[in-house]
Amino acid sequence: MDRRSFTLGSLGLAAGLATPMPALSQTPSYRGPNVILVRFGGGVRRAETIDEATTWAPYLRHVLAPRGTFIPDLRIDRLEGVNTSHAEGTLNLLTGRYLAYRDASEFLNDRLEPTEPTLFEYLRRAFDIPSHQVLLVNGEDRPQEEFFTFGAGDHFGIDFRSEMLSLHRYKLYRTRMQLAEGGLTDEARLALEAERTRLLTIDPRGATPEPSAEVEAFWARWRRDFGDSGFKNPRGDRLLTELSIRALRELQPRLLMVNYQDPDYVHWGNPSHYTRAIAIIDEGLQRLVSAVDASPFYRDNTIFVITPDCGRDANPLAEVPFQHHFNSRSAHETWAVIFGPGIGKGVIDKPIDQSAIAPTIAAAMGFMASRAEGSAIEGAFL
Ligand SMILES: [Zn+2]
Repeated sequence: MDRRSFTLGSLGLAAGLATPMPALSQTPSYRGPNVILVRFGGGVRRAETIDEATTWAPYLRHVLAPRGTFIPDLRIDRLEGVNTSHAEGTLNLLTGRYLAYRDASEFLNDRLEPTEPTLFEYLRRAFDIPSHQVLLVNGEDRPQEEFFTFGAGDHFGIDFRSEMLSLHRYKLYRTRMQLAEGGLTDEARLALEAERTRLLTIDPRGATPEPSAEVEAFWARWRRDFGDSGFKNPRGDRLLTELSIRALRELQPRLLMVNYQDPDYVHWGNPSHYTRAIAIIDEGLQRLVSAVDASPFYRDNTIFVITPDCGRDANPLAEVPFQHHFNSRSAHETWAVIFGPGIGKGVIDKPIDQSAIAPTIAAAMGFMASRAEGSAIEGAFL
């Protein structure tokens, strides 16, 4: 019995089968296309990404956009209470709804957890896909996004979660292994225990449940290659690319979301950090697309959906231009590039709402995002 069927079986017994849950034999295996959802994140404006003349992401704009459906006018709706920010925009993408989250913070700010099903949960409820093949790749310093793997509330929840790859998760793995391996001086052991306690405090949900055996093996190989120091592995958004490339090779996810984030460092005031970060994501896209095109498992069977979490302000008079918390028009303005098998080629020359992304991915993969407010983008499919 594998880990998943054991978990489902024991939960069914514990719950007295009060909640109807499809038996594994009734859940079809997945035969549709793989999807790689790239959050071109940390908030980016159209000017530095999809504007042909001023882009810092030439591969995205000149190579990928013509390869499929280009939506230059994706918009975050101007609803009361909508915040144009990272966790909010990401959850809009994952749930197909606005305001489908609640504050999950006990001690720290900026912790949102979804209150409606995410794409991960819909997909794993519809198809028999193990958790290590539905993956979220996150940045190191956003443990708040560790909450996105499954939602709170009475919907599908933890049994249908995705698994998470991030440096934070690796450190949880490493500290657990180092403590179990022993052979430490008292001083080293105390330091490790303190590090692990701090990690668990940042993300109380992070160690529950433990990663699957497949993800444990992924981290064991990562540790073999990059060691315990933290100095050898790439950092920032390059780290997310490295995690994603290795995940494609070693775990073969059917749905992979990559949460790029570094353009957001512009909050601290240096515009070159922002444009440099956009160029680094563009390089990451090149690596991801090359890896897919070179892989017999992914080639001709993988759809890319590339879209930002939110835009940024365009106020040249502000002391630090391009923030994104002032509800300005351009903070609501994003875009999307979608390409792969079954996706049409062309430009959709009308406004599309951000809540359409989740149902579009659902339609491409063959399930319904039944709680989404938007509907699949007409004209994206062949
Ligand atoms: Zn920000």
